[in-house]
Amino acid sequence: MSTSDNTHLITVPGQREALVPPSPARIRALRRHLIEAIRDLVKARRPDRLVQRRTVEPTGFRAAVVTESCGHCRGSCCMAGGTHAFLDERTMARVHAEQPDLTARQVIRAYIGSVAPLAYRDSCLFHGPSGCTLARPLRAELCNSYYCNGLLDFLNAPADGTKTITIETHAGDRRVMTSGMSPVETAAGSPT
Ligand code: SF4
Ligand code: SF4
Repeated sequence: MSTSDNTHLITVPGQREALVPPSPARIRALRRHLIEAIRDLVKARRPDRLVQRRTVEPTGFRAAVVTESCGHCRGSCCMAGGTHAFLDERTMARVHAEQPDLTARQVIRAYIGSVAPLAYRDSCLFHGPSGCTLARPLRAELCNSYYCNGLLDFLNAPADGTKTITIETHAGDRRVMTSGMSPVETAAGSPT
């Protein structure tokens, strides 16, 4: 939502769960899920048709605003990732298309090796304090393409020379970002 010609307010959910190490049971669940996804790919009649087109990432100041917003939000949407991280046969098809020499065992090892040493409680196993620990080529396309409504409003707004972005969580934690200034300013009363 634009608050004036040169400012824009982005409202993000904002989660504040504790960080915990992954339990062996959750990692086993991820491994089982990956095996199922690879089996589904093997069963597919036309695996090439499962490969999804990559979403184009924002660039420049818009990319910086997305990074800052998701960082301030601490990845609320990733809380739904659980032990599956939205991975399925389509992700496996893309991984296979891009890295055909990898065996199924190596693919599983790449995922398990990417699990965050500390992740937000009950969230996605790759949801660490500095963001997603899974490389973009291994992520589900949903993860690479998803933006919440607050960010969509910003990304869909015309590039009209907006200079100041206020990012506010539902709890009222606020961060102010000014184009051309780095690092981001933190408004009074917000967490650092
Ligand atoms: S896309 Fe939205 S909900 Fe998800 S982490 Fe970023 S700001 Fe938060
Ligand atoms: S894989 Fe990464 S982007 Fe996707 S839900 Fe998990 S932490 Fe979020």
